Amino acid sequence: MPVIQRLAAAHPDATIALRFRTDLELLVSVMLSAQTTDVNVNKVTPALFVKYRKPEDYLVVPVEELERDIYATGFFRQKAKSIRGTMRMLIEDFDGEVPRRLEELVKLPGVARKTANVVAAELGHAQGIVVDTHVRRLSQRLGLTRNDDPVKIERDLQRVVPRADWARFPHLLIWHGRRVCDARRPLCEECVIEDLCPASRLR
Ligand code: SF4
Repeated sequence: MPVIQRLAAAHPDATIALRFRTDLELLVSVMLSAQTTDVNVNKVTPALFVKYRKPEDYLVVPVEELERDIYATGFFRQKAKSIRGTMRMLIEDFDGEVPRRLEELVKLPGVARKTANVVAAELGHAQGIVVDTHVRRLSQRLGLTRNDDPVKIERDLQRVVPRADWARFPHLLIWHGRRVCDARRPLCEECVIEDLCPASRLR
C-alpha cells in the first residue's frame, strides 16, 4: 500500500508515545491515557510503576491513595476504579498476566475496544486497527472510509490495510496527523501522500 510505505519513510519514529517496560505497565498506561495526552501519562507513570509492580499492589492500598497517585491524568476516580477492577480480574481469571486476545482484553473493567486494540498491537498480536481522532480524520480524508463511527471505520480499514500493517498503520496516521495533516490547517504542500489524497487542498 503506497500510503503506508511513504508514511513509514516520512515518519520512521512513529511508534507508541507511552513509556512502559512490562505488559502490565502497558495496560495501565493505555488505561490512564483516556481523555488525556500521552505526555501527561508519561509524567505520572515513572513513580507509579516503582510503587505498583504487580496487580496485587493496586489492590492493597486504599483506593484514595491510588486516586492520588494517578490524579494528574484526570478522571482519576473512574480510572482508579477501572484499574482496580482490571487487576482483580487479571488475578482471578488470567493468573496475573495481561491476556493477548481481544475478546479477553475487552472483558477487563474499563477496557474498551480501542484500549484493547492498542494493547494487543503493542504486544505483537494486533487483531484490529486502532481508531482515534487522527486515524478517523485521515482515513476519511484519504478516502479509505466514508463512515464516522469508529467501529465501522475500523471495519473499512481492515479491508484495505494488509494484516501485517495493522499495528503500525494507526501510528503512521497519528504522527502524520499531528505533524502534517492538522484538523484545521493541513499542510498539503508538505505532504508526502498529497498526490494520493482526494482531500488535498492543492487541487
Ligand atoms: S494532502 Fe493534505 S489533506 Fe491529504 S493527507 Fe496530506 S495534508 Fe492531509
